Parts: sequence; structure tokens; C-alpha cells
Amino acid sequence: MTVAVSLEKVYKVYNKIPVVNGLSFDIAAGEMFGLLGPNGAGKSTTIRMLTTLTKPTEGRIEVCGYDVVRQPLMVKQCIGVVLQQISVDGDLTVWENMDLHGRLHHIANPQRQHLIYQWLDYVELASKRNDLVKTLSGGMKRRLQIARALLHQPQILFLDEPTVGLDPQTRRRLWEMIQDLNKQGMTMLLTTHYMEEAEYLCDRIGIMDSGKLISLGTLQELRSTHGEGLAIKQVGDRWEYLFFPTLAEANLYLDQLQDKTGIMVRPSNLEDIFVELTGRRLD
Ligand code: ADP
Repeated sequence: MTVAVSLEKVYKVYNKIPVVNGLSFDIAAGEMFGLLGPNGAGKSTTIRMLTTLTKPTEGRIEVCGYDVVRQPLMVKQCIGVVLQQISVDGDLTVWENMDLHGRLHHIANPQRQHLIYQWLDYVELASKRNDLVKTLSGGMKRRLQIARALLHQPQILFLDEPTVGLDPQTRRRLWEMIQDLNKQGMTMLLTTHYMEEAEYLCDRIGIMDSGKLISLGTLQELRSTHGEGLAIKQVGDRWEYLFFPTLAEANLYLDQLQDKTGIMVRPSNLEDIFVELTGRRLD
């Protein structure tokens, strides 16, 4: 396995509080890795350290085999970054935004022009190339951010909450693009607080809470670890979740109960596991 991203005992301390608290995990080349967690879990801070925007207080991070603290320029050349805040310039046209990024990465013409066309076409913005970015919809701006992040042909793409605030159709279309890029061999790390996004897209999911990785695996591994069967029981105005190793065992539990009122059995999903682990429901 070629390791694309590696974190070893990473800490980030703000005002004496470790907002990233001893994080260690690897991402394999070609993998689609999802970091899931409630607000304030430390996901964005982790992405900011991986993309050289902030330094870890302690620990070691390697991206594409380069150390983020000692070799930030090498890291920047091999990664593409799509941050949560729309970071494209609204007063420039779509083309000008791409061109500026290409120049910053010292991509010479005619290759620069060729790549701009290629990626604008890929994200279906070629016909908008002369429009001012401030006239684009939220989904188009996000697609432009992705095209721009891909312009210098990175090996790894970091996406911080890529579909937040987008309507369901636009979100689906972006998922298809993200999935297609991954199929072409791009390693990806995305953060999200949408369960279905992590379930749909990610090979492996790391659940973060209070700066720590509290669970890591494929969806199936997480379900096997925490229980594949679930009985949900209404107690007053609350719901109690009981996990069972298998759905059959959850059904057996239900069968044996004399009073079955207010009890439902079903396969567990990522959201159930998330709530069980963090004790919180996402918005
Ligand atoms: P998430 O992306 O999971 O919502 P963040 O990484 O944005 O979490 O934030 C984790 C914690 O770190 C939060 O409590 C946040 O307030 C704090 N934090 C993030 N950036 C800074 C900073 N520059 N200075 C102080 N505290 C920060």
C-alpha cells in the first residue's frame, strides 16, 4: 500500500486547549477518506494542518511523502484544496480566476490554456468562462473551486465540507464528480457533517470528536464493530437505541418481548453509530 497522507500523534493547541488531540491515521493512495464529526470536533483544523495553512503544535504529518512543516512548498505542489469558504474572486471572470491560479503555479502556456479548458469543461462551466464569478450560483462557484484546485494536476484533493449549503440536485451532481475523480485515481480527503455524503462517497470513515479519532473503518467495519442490528424503543419523549451484533439478534430480542409497543427493529446506519459514539445529533 502506498501511503498518501500520514499523521502521527498530531496535536494542535489553541489557548492551551488541544483542539486536535493526538491524531494518528494513514490514507492510502487512491483512497476516498471521510472525516466526520460534529461542529468543533477539529476537522477543519486537521485539514488546515494537512494543507500547510497552519502548523501542528506537535506530531508528524506527511503528505505525498513530504513533511508539511519542513517541505510545505513540495506539499502545496502535490495537493489541491477546496475550502469551506468560497475562495474564488467574485470580481474576476471564471477564466481569470483559473488563469491567476495557473500563473501562481507557474504553468506556462499553451499548457495553461489547455488545462483551463479541460477542467472548466469537466465541471461544466466552459460556457460561463467569460462571466463574472459574482454572477454564478453557489453550486457553480463550488464547481469552479474544484476546477481551480485541479488545475495544477494534484495527486491529492482536500475538500472541506464540499456540498454544504447546496441544493440536493447540485449536491448529487458534485458527488458524481467527486466519485469520478476518485475512480480516475485521485486520493481524496473530505470532511462532512452529512451522514449520507460519507456513506455514499467514502471508502473509509474516521469519526472525530473533541479533537480525537473515536472510530475508523469502512461503513461495514463500523457497523460490525458497533452492531448491525438496532432496536429503537420509545421511552417517554426520548428514543432509546439498543445495538445488536446482527439484525437477526435484534429481531429475536423483539420477539421475546411481551409488550412490543413503541419498539422498532432495523439495520443500523452511520447516523445511529455517530449518535451512539458522540451522544449528539448533527443539525
Ligand atoms: P470543525 O471543523 O470540526 O467544526 P474546527 O477545526 O473548526 O472544528 O474547530 C475545532 C475547535 O478549535 C473549535 O473549538 C474552534 O473554536 C477552535 N479553533 C479553531 N481555529 C481556532 C483559532 N485560530 N484560534 C482559536 N481556536 C480555534
